[in-house]
Amino acid sequence: MSKVLLISTGGTITMVRDKKSGALKPADMKTFKAYIPELFSGDIKIDIQAFDPLLDSSDVGPRSWAMMAQMVYDHYNDYDGFVILHGTDTMAYSGSALSFMLENIHKPVVLTGAQLPIGVLRSDARENMMTAIEMAAAKDEDGQPIVQEVAIYFEDRLFRANRTTKRNAEHFSAFNSYNYPALAKAGVHITYQRHLLLYTDPELPLLMHTEYDTNVAVIKMYPGIQRAYVHSILRIKDLKAVVLETFGAGNAPSNKWLFNELKAAIERGIIIVNKTQCNTGSVEMGRYAVSLGLMKAGVISGFDITTEALLTKMMYLLGEFPDDIEHVKQLLQTNLCGEVTIG
Ligand code: ASP
Repeated sequence: MSKVLLISTGGTITMVRDKKSGALKPADMKTFKAYIPELFSGDIKIDIQAFDPLLDSSDVGPRSWAMMAQMVYDHYNDYDGFVILHGTDTMAYSGSALSFMLENIHKPVVLTGAQLPIGVLRSDARENMMTAIEMAAAKDEDGQPIVQEVAIYFEDRLFRANRTTKRNAEHFSAFNSYNYPALAKAGVHITYQRHLLLYTDPELPLLMHTEYDTNVAVIKMYPGIQRAYVHSILRIKDLKAVVLETFGAGNAPSNKWLFNELKAAIERGIIIVNKTQCNTGSVEMGRYAVSLGLMKAGVISGFDITTEALLTKMMYLLGEFPDDIEHVKQLLQTNLCGEVTIG
Protein backbone atom coordinates (compact mmCIF):
# COMPACT_ATOMS: atom_id res chain seq x y z
CA MET A 1 0.00 0.00 0.00
CA SER A 2 1.42 3.42 -0.97
CA LYS A 3 1.60 6.09 1.70
CA VAL A 4 1.10 9.80 1.02
CA LEU A 5 1.44 12.68 3.46
CA LEU A 6 -1.13 15.39 2.83
CA ILE A 7 0.11 18.75 4.13
CA SER A 8 -2.66 21.30 4.39
CA THR A 9 -1.49 24.91 4.44
CA GLY A 10 -4.89 26.48 3.72
CA GLY A 11 -6.36 28.29 0.71
CA THR A 12 -9.77 28.03 -0.89
CA ILE A 13 -9.46 24.26 -1.22
CA THR A 14 -9.75 23.85 2.55
CA MET A 15 -12.76 26.13 2.99
CA VAL A 16 -16.40 25.41 3.79
CA ARG A 17 -19.36 27.71 4.24
CA ASP A 18 -20.09 28.66 7.82
CA LYS A 19 -23.68 27.61 8.54
CA LYS A 20 -24.46 30.68 10.63
CA SER A 21 -22.77 33.53 8.76
CA GLY A 22 -22.67 32.02 5.25
CA ALA A 23 -19.04 33.15 4.89
CA LEU A 24 -16.22 30.91 3.64
CA LYS A 25 -13.67 29.86 6.22
CA PRO A 26 -11.01 27.16 6.52
CA ALA A 27 -12.53 23.91 7.78
CA ASP A 28 -11.07 22.01 10.71
CA MET A 29 -9.62 18.64 9.73
CA LYS A 30 -12.65 16.65 10.93
CA THR A 31 -15.05 18.69 8.79
CA PHE A 32 -12.63 18.63 5.88
CA LYS A 33 -12.33 14.84 5.98
CA ALA A 34 -16.13 14.50 6.09
CA TYR A 35 -16.35 16.09 2.63
CA ILE A 36 -14.14 13.46 1.07
CA PRO A 37 -14.70 10.15 2.87
CA GLU A 38 -13.51 8.19 -0.19
CA LEU A 39 -10.06 9.66 0.32
CA PHE A 40 -9.54 7.41 3.30
CA SER A 41 -11.06 4.20 1.94
CA GLY A 42 -8.91 3.66 -1.19
CA ASP A 43 -5.68 1.76 -1.63
CA ILE A 44 -3.44 4.71 -0.73
CA LYS A 45 -2.83 5.34 2.96
CA ILE A 46 -3.13 9.05 3.64
CA ASP A 47 -1.98 10.91 6.73
CA ILE A 48 -2.68 14.60 7.21
CA GLN A 49 -0.66 17.37 8.80
CA ALA A 50 -2.07 20.86 8.84
CA PHE A 51 -0.78 24.37 9.41
CA ASP A 52 -2.27 25.99 12.47
CA PRO A 53 -3.73 28.42 11.62
CA LEU A 54 -4.49 27.59 8.00
CA LEU A 55 -3.39 30.43 5.73
CA ASP A 56 -4.69 32.31 2.78
CA SER A 57 -1.73 31.99 0.42
CA SER A 58 -1.30 35.78 0.31
CA ASP A 59 0.12 35.32 3.80
CA VAL A 60 2.51 32.54 2.77
CA GLY A 61 6.19 33.50 2.53
CA PRO A 62 9.68 32.28 3.41
CA ARG A 63 8.73 31.17 6.94
CA SER A 64 5.88 29.04 5.65
CA TRP A 65 8.07 27.67 2.84
CA ALA A 66 10.57 26.55 5.49
CA MET A 67 7.74 24.85 7.43
CA MET A 68 6.59 22.97 4.32
CA ALA A 69 10.15 21.94 3.45
CA GLN A 70 10.75 20.79 7.02
CA MET A 71 7.57 18.65 7.01
CA VAL A 72 8.68 16.93 3.81
CA TYR A 73 12.25 16.53 5.05
CA ASP A 74 11.25 15.13 8.45
CA HIS A 75 8.95 12.52 6.89
CA TYR A 76 10.92 11.87 3.71
CA ASN A 77 11.53 8.19 4.48
CA ASP A 78 8.05 7.52 5.87
CA TYR A 79 6.04 8.29 2.72
CA ASP A 80 6.07 7.53 -0.99
CA GLY A 81 5.01 11.05 -1.86
CA PHE A 82 3.71 14.36 -0.57
CA VAL A 83 0.71 16.51 -1.52
CA ILE A 84 0.56 20.11 -0.34
CA LEU A 85 -2.85 21.80 -0.26
CA HIS A 86 -2.22 25.48 -0.89
CA GLY A 87 -4.05 28.63 -1.93
CA THR A 88 -3.73 29.31 -5.63
CA ASP A 89 -2.65 32.96 -5.37
CA THR A 90 0.98 32.31 -4.43
CA MET A 91 1.24 28.59 -5.17
CA ALA A 92 3.71 29.20 -8.00
CA TYR A 93 6.02 31.07 -5.59
CA SER A 94 5.85 28.35 -2.93
CA GLY A 95 6.35 25.59 -5.51
CA SER A 96 9.35 27.41 -6.98
CA ALA A 97 10.84 28.02 -3.52
CA LEU A 98 10.42 24.37 -2.53
CA SER A 99 12.13 23.21 -5.71
CA PHE A 100 15.28 25.08 -4.61
CA MET A 101 14.94 24.19 -0.91
CA LEU A 102 14.61 20.46 -1.46
CA GLU A 103 17.74 19.74 -3.44
CA ASN A 104 18.08 16.24 -4.96
CA ILE A 105 14.52 15.24 -4.12
CA HIS A 106 13.68 11.77 -5.41
CA LYS A 107 10.04 11.66 -4.40
CA PRO A 108 7.00 13.61 -5.63
CA VAL A 109 5.93 16.81 -3.91
CA VAL A 110 2.69 17.87 -5.60
CA LEU A 111 1.06 21.18 -4.73
CA THR A 112 -2.60 21.62 -5.52
CA GLY A 113 -5.53 23.84 -4.62
CA ALA A 114 -8.92 24.81 -5.95
CA GLN A 115 -10.82 27.71 -7.42
CA LEU A 116 -13.98 26.75 -5.52
CA PRO A 117 -14.00 25.60 -1.88
CA ILE A 118 -14.33 21.92 -1.00
CA GLY A 119 -17.73 22.68 0.56
CA VAL A 120 -19.26 23.93 -2.71
CA LEU A 121 -21.03 21.43 -4.97
CA ARG A 122 -19.29 22.46 -8.21
CA SER A 123 -15.88 22.57 -6.52
CA ASP A 124 -12.75 21.47 -8.36
CA ALA A 125 -11.16 20.63 -5.00
CA ARG A 126 -12.04 16.95 -4.91
CA GLU A 127 -10.75 16.12 -8.39
CA ASN A 128 -7.57 18.18 -7.99
CA MET A 129 -6.77 16.58 -4.66
CA MET A 130 -7.59 13.00 -5.69
CA THR A 131 -5.46 13.16 -8.83
CA ALA A 132 -2.60 14.92 -7.03
CA ILE A 133 -2.62 12.10 -4.47
CA GLU A 134 -2.62 9.47 -7.20
CA MET A 135 0.34 11.20 -8.85
CA ALA A 136 2.18 11.43 -5.54
CA ALA A 137 1.75 7.67 -5.10
CA ALA A 138 2.53 6.64 -8.69
CA LYS A 139 5.44 4.23 -9.23
CA ASP A 140 7.05 2.90 -12.39
CA GLU A 141 7.62 -0.76 -13.33
CA ASP A 142 10.75 -0.82 -11.12
CA GLY A 143 8.87 0.48 -8.10
CA GLN A 144 10.45 3.95 -8.32
CA PRO A 145 8.39 7.16 -8.02
CA ILE A 146 7.45 8.40 -11.49
CA VAL A 147 7.58 12.02 -10.38
CA GLN A 148 10.75 12.95 -8.51
CA GLU A 149 10.43 16.71 -8.30
CA VAL A 150 8.25 19.54 -6.97
CA ALA A 151 5.19 19.95 -9.20
CA ILE A 152 1.82 21.66 -9.37
CA TYR A 153 -1.29 19.73 -10.37
CA PHE A 154 -4.30 21.76 -11.50
CA GLU A 155 -7.43 20.94 -13.51
CA ASP A 156 -5.97 18.21 -15.69
CA ARG A 157 -2.26 18.86 -15.94
CA LEU A 158 0.87 18.41 -13.89
CA PHE A 159 3.46 21.16 -14.30
CA ARG A 160 6.99 21.65 -13.06
CA ALA A 161 6.36 23.99 -10.12
CA ASN A 162 9.20 26.38 -10.92
CA ARG A 163 7.87 26.84 -14.47
CA THR A 164 4.33 27.63 -13.40
CA THR A 165 2.37 30.89 -13.21
CA LYS A 166 -1.16 31.58 -11.99
CA ARG A 167 -2.87 32.90 -15.09
CA ASN A 168 -6.58 32.98 -14.34
CA ALA A 169 -8.63 34.09 -11.34
CA GLU A 170 -11.85 32.76 -12.83
CA HIS A 171 -11.37 29.53 -14.77
CA PHE A 172 -10.69 26.11 -13.31
CA SER A 173 -7.62 26.02 -15.51
CA ALA A 174 -5.86 28.53 -13.27
CA PHE A 175 -2.21 27.71 -14.03
CA ASN A 176 0.05 27.41 -16.98
CA SER A 177 3.65 26.61 -17.70
CA TYR A 178 4.49 28.79 -20.68
CA ASN A 179 8.06 27.81 -21.37
CA TYR A 180 8.03 24.11 -20.50
CA PRO A 181 5.48 21.46 -21.51
CA ALA A 182 3.17 19.78 -18.99
CA LEU A 183 4.75 16.81 -17.21
CA ALA A 184 1.55 14.78 -17.21
CA LYS A 185 -2.03 14.98 -18.41
CA ALA A 186 -4.98 13.48 -16.58
CA GLY A 187 -7.86 12.21 -18.70
CA VAL A 188 -9.37 8.76 -18.45
CA HIS A 189 -5.78 7.70 -17.90
CA ILE A 190 -2.88 9.68 -16.51
CA THR A 191 -0.19 10.06 -19.16
CA TYR A 192 3.26 10.97 -17.88
CA GLN A 193 5.81 12.57 -20.20
CA ARG A 194 8.74 10.63 -18.81
CA HIS A 195 11.28 12.39 -21.04
CA LEU A 196 10.25 15.78 -19.61
CA LEU A 197 10.45 14.81 -15.94
CA LEU A 198 13.49 15.68 -13.85
CA TYR A 199 15.61 12.80 -12.51
CA THR A 200 18.68 13.65 -10.46
CA ASP A 201 21.42 11.17 -9.61
CA PRO A 202 19.77 8.68 -7.19
CA GLU A 203 23.02 8.51 -5.20
CA LEU A 204 22.74 12.18 -4.19
CA PRO A 205 21.13 12.64 -0.76
CA LEU A 206 18.22 15.03 -0.14
CA LEU A 207 19.51 18.37 1.13
CA MET A 208 17.28 20.99 2.70
CA HIS A 209 17.99 24.73 2.48
CA THR A 210 15.86 27.10 4.51
CA GLU A 211 17.97 30.28 4.63
CA TYR A 212 16.30 33.09 2.70
CA ASP A 213 17.34 36.67 2.09
CA THR A 214 14.37 38.81 1.07
CA ASN A 215 16.38 41.93 0.21
CA VAL A 216 15.22 41.77 -3.40
CA ALA A 217 12.95 43.98 -5.49
CA VAL A 218 11.12 44.05 -8.81
CA ILE A 219 11.36 47.01 -11.18
CA LYS A 220 8.86 46.90 -14.00
CA MET A 221 9.65 48.87 -17.15
CA TYR A 222 6.82 50.92 -18.65
CA PRO A 223 6.65 53.71 -21.20
CA GLY A 224 7.13 57.01 -19.39
CA ILE A 225 9.03 55.49 -16.47
CA GLN A 226 10.56 58.14 -14.19
CA ARG A 227 14.11 58.31 -12.93
CA ALA A 228 13.00 58.96 -9.33
CA TYR A 229 11.09 55.67 -9.27
CA VAL A 230 14.07 53.61 -10.46
CA HIS A 231 16.49 55.61 -8.32
CA SER A 232 14.53 55.17 -5.10
CA ILE A 233 14.19 51.41 -5.53
CA LEU A 234 17.86 50.95 -6.33
CA ARG A 235 18.74 52.94 -3.19
CA ILE A 236 16.74 50.74 -0.80
CA LYS A 237 18.92 49.94 2.20
CA ASP A 238 20.46 46.43 2.06
CA LEU A 239 19.05 45.75 -1.40
CA LYS A 240 20.98 42.86 -2.96
CA ALA A 241 19.20 41.83 -6.15
CA VAL A 242 16.61 43.14 -8.57
CA VAL A 243 14.32 41.54 -11.12
CA LEU A 244 14.16 43.98 -14.03
CA GLU A 245 10.92 43.25 -15.88
CA THR A 246 11.61 44.35 -19.44
CA PHE A 247 9.75 44.51 -22.74
CA GLY A 248 9.74 41.72 -25.33
CA ALA A 249 13.08 40.03 -25.79
CA GLY A 250 14.57 41.93 -22.83
CA ASN A 251 14.37 45.56 -23.96
CA ALA A 252 14.22 48.80 -21.99
CA PRO A 253 14.08 52.52 -22.79
CA SER A 254 17.47 53.68 -24.00
CA ASN A 255 17.58 56.76 -21.69
CA LYS A 256 21.03 57.66 -20.49
CA TRP A 257 19.75 58.10 -16.95
CA LEU A 258 18.45 54.51 -16.84
CA PHE A 259 21.83 53.19 -17.96
CA ASN A 260 23.59 55.32 -15.33
CA GLU A 261 21.26 54.23 -12.50
CA LEU A 262 21.62 50.54 -13.36
CA LYS A 263 25.38 50.72 -13.85
CA ALA A 264 25.89 52.57 -10.55
CA ALA A 265 23.75 50.00 -8.70
CA ILE A 266 25.69 47.10 -10.20
CA GLU A 267 28.94 48.79 -9.21
CA ARG A 268 27.58 48.98 -5.63
CA GLY A 269 27.22 45.15 -5.74
CA ILE A 270 23.52 44.88 -6.58
CA ILE A 271 22.66 42.01 -8.93
CA ILE A 272 20.22 42.96 -11.69
CA VAL A 273 18.56 40.24 -13.75
CA ASN A 274 16.68 40.88 -16.98
CA LYS A 275 13.29 39.11 -17.08
CA THR A 276 10.87 39.71 -19.92
CA GLN A 277 7.29 40.79 -19.15
CA CYS A 278 6.13 38.29 -21.80
CA ASN A 279 4.99 34.94 -20.46
CA THR A 280 6.35 32.97 -23.37
CA GLY A 281 9.85 33.24 -24.82
CA SER A 282 13.26 34.25 -23.60
CA VAL A 283 15.40 37.30 -22.95
CA GLU A 284 17.90 37.83 -25.75
CA MET A 285 20.05 40.83 -24.86
CA GLY A 286 21.79 42.34 -27.85
CA ARG A 287 19.10 41.36 -30.34
CA TYR A 288 17.83 44.95 -30.37
CA ALA A 289 19.95 48.05 -29.85
CA VAL A 290 17.71 49.03 -26.90
CA SER A 291 19.02 46.13 -24.83
CA LEU A 292 22.71 46.79 -25.54
CA GLY A 293 22.85 49.40 -22.77
CA LEU A 294 21.57 46.87 -20.24
CA MET A 295 24.33 44.47 -21.22
CA LYS A 296 26.95 47.20 -21.01
CA ALA A 297 25.70 48.24 -17.58
CA GLY A 298 26.23 44.64 -16.36
CA VAL A 299 22.62 43.40 -16.24
CA ILE A 300 22.53 39.60 -16.55
CA SER A 301 19.99 37.52 -18.46
CA GLY A 302 17.14 35.63 -16.80
CA PHE A 303 16.52 33.76 -20.08
CA ASP A 304 13.01 32.20 -19.96
CA ILE A 305 12.58 31.95 -16.17
CA THR A 306 9.29 33.01 -14.51
CA THR A 307 9.29 35.96 -12.12
CA GLU A 308 8.11 33.58 -9.37
CA ALA A 309 11.08 31.27 -9.90
CA LEU A 310 13.56 34.12 -10.34
CA LEU A 311 12.53 35.92 -7.15
CA THR A 312 12.58 32.77 -5.00
CA LYS A 313 15.86 31.63 -6.58
CA MET A 314 17.42 35.00 -5.74
CA MET A 315 16.17 34.85 -2.14
CA TYR A 316 17.43 31.28 -1.78
CA LEU A 317 20.87 31.92 -3.32
CA LEU A 318 21.40 35.15 -1.36
CA GLY A 319 20.47 33.29 1.83
CA GLU A 320 22.71 30.35 0.97
CA PHE A 321 25.79 32.31 -0.20
CA PRO A 322 25.51 35.69 1.58
CA ASP A 323 29.14 36.62 1.06
CA ASP A 324 29.67 35.49 -2.49
CA ILE A 325 27.88 37.74 -4.96
CA GLU A 326 29.87 36.36 -7.91
CA HIS A 327 28.79 32.83 -7.10
CA VAL A 328 25.16 33.94 -6.74
CA LYS A 329 25.41 35.66 -10.13
CA GLN A 330 26.86 32.55 -11.70
CA LEU A 331 24.14 30.30 -10.26
CA LEU A 332 21.44 32.73 -11.39
CA GLN A 333 22.68 31.98 -14.89
CA THR A 334 22.70 28.22 -14.28
CA ASN A 335 19.84 25.76 -14.53
CA LEU A 336 19.61 24.26 -11.02
CA CYS A 337 16.46 22.15 -11.12
CA GLY A 338 14.74 22.63 -14.44
CA GLU A 339 13.67 26.24 -13.82
CA VAL A 340 15.32 27.82 -16.86
CA THR A 341 16.45 27.10 -20.40
CA ILE A 342 19.86 28.64 -20.88
CA GLY A 343 20.95 29.87 -24.28
N1 ASP B 1 -6.95 33.68 -1.79
C1 ASP B 1 -6.90 32.23 -1.94
C2 ASP B 1 -5.49 31.77 -1.60
O1 ASP B 1 -4.63 31.88 -2.40
C3 ASP B 1 -7.28 31.87 -3.33
C4 ASP B 1 -7.27 30.40 -3.62
O2 ASP B 1 -6.93 29.54 -2.84
O3 ASP B 1 -7.64 30.06 -4.75
O4 ASP B 1 -5.28 31.33 -0.52
